[in-house]
Amino acid sequence: MLKVHSIETFGTHEGPGIRLVVFLQGCNFNCAYCHNPDTIPATKGKEMKISKIINLLEEQKPYFIEGDFKNGGGLTVSGGEPGIQLSELQKLLKATKRRGFHIAMDTNASFTSTAYKKLLDLTDLVIIDLKHFDETHHLKLTGKSNKNVLASIKYRNDSKKPFWIRFVLVPGWTDQEEYLEKMGKYLKKFKYLERLEILPYHTLGIHKYKELRLDYRLKDVKIPSVKQINKVKNIFGKYLKTVIVR
Ligand code: SF4
Repeated sequence: MLKVHSIETFGTHEGPGIRLVVFLQGCNFNCAYCHNPDTIPATKGKEMKISKIINLLEEQKPYFIEGDFKNGGGLTVSGGEPGIQLSELQKLLKATKRRGFHIAMDTNASFTSTAYKKLLDLTDLVIIDLKHFDETHHLKLTGKSNKNVLASIKYRNDSKKPFWIRFVLVPGWTDQEEYLEKMGKYLKKFKYLERLEILPYHTLGIHKYKELRLDYRLKDVKIPSVKQINKVKNIFGKYLKTVIVR
């Protein structure tokens, strides 16, 4: 059984093609900008059998690899953080792989265990969320260190399998030029990094904080302007071939 927050049947942003996106419940980070704070507590969500998820994949199969929509879609596991449901998730990924579906995982990559590495190995594409390149800023933003995240990036590249980096641009929190430059330089050396995606900060999730009676730490932060976004894109663009603004 997996603890699931929600499922999107025709996702188009979480990897190539059309995807079944399973948002898993529970996260070990507490990001100041998290727009789905309801996915964080591991105690919430609903239990779902792996066979049920596989059935959903089979139903969507015509849109992934057959028929008129040969677009390379498949399964994406996201969250919350998939890495906290290691053993059950391994079962789902193994069953998915046996059926030949493409697998993507969107993860904060903050784990170093052998079981987590196994998850990465089972995944055709890993989307790693690198929240901040600087340790102190990362701690302030997420409540956790970025050391394991950086180690996972290296592990993935050493495995010679593709990955993307996702970066949320939050004015005043993640846009310090010095660290963007350092991050670009650092990522440049990874041959299997296919793209970096910039996700401009937005305020669409704020109402959830009110509903959950949680304090929202970014009350005074404004969404980035086109100029600010382009500036960050240009900095990363000096080091990386493919930088996409989402
Ligand atoms: S890692 Fe993702 S789900 Fe977890 S707190 Fe951060 S933004 Fe939210």
